[in-house]
Amino acid sequence: MRTTELESARLAVCEVGRAMWERRLVAANDGNISVRVDDLVVCTPTGVSKGFLVPGELAVLGLDGELVSGDLPPSSEVKMHLRVYELDDTARAVVHAHPLFATMAAVQGRELECRMLPETIVTMPRVPLAPYATPSTTAVPDSISPFVADYRACLLENHGALTWGPDLMSTYLAMERLEYTAELLWRLDASGGGRDLPDDEIARIRDLFGC
Ligand SMILES: [Zn+2]
Repeated sequence: MRTTELESARLAVCEVGRAMWERRLVAANDGNISVRVDDLVVCTPTGVSKGFLVPGELAVLGLDGELVSGDLPPSSEVKMHLRVYELDDTARAVVHAHPLFATMAAVQGRELECRMLPETIVTMPRVPLAPYATPSTTAVPDSISPFVADYRACLLENHGALTWGPDLMSTYLAMERLEYTAELLWRLDASGGGRDLPDDEIARIRDLFGC
């Protein structure tokens, strides 16, 4: 049973990797993806383009980070993924990418907040900014820890973006929405600014959708 689930997870990671690469959410070998199956984590290997992943080359780790199988080492950022699984028992997937507009906001030290669109108010009203940490060190998981319980996404200062959730598809789609929101905010800023929805309409939307 678990073998079947692991195989499905491997295929799904490759599919999402391809989508991320095609949508330019990552460049070159950047980014990493993981899926939790019971007490195991399927993770993209280091140094491989997300557009050309092969199911058999994905690493499988324990929740403690110990390699269970895989010819290539897992991503050096896997500690960030393991921290999410440690702090959020409902998380089953983590996606890390360097989308252009989200990364621009992260470099400028700005979190994302959008009160202009109903969809964003319901699904992603605020994306906090985790403070800069040197890649591959434990400072990276430490920087995201304060946000894991209350959010499904954060920016990584001078680095990129991270999303997590109950399944891989919703976690990937959160990355798409995050980048869409970052691009929208950037383009509105560059063209004279946008208008927030009125407070009473925001309250109505939150009431209606229970968010
Ligand atoms: Zn990165």
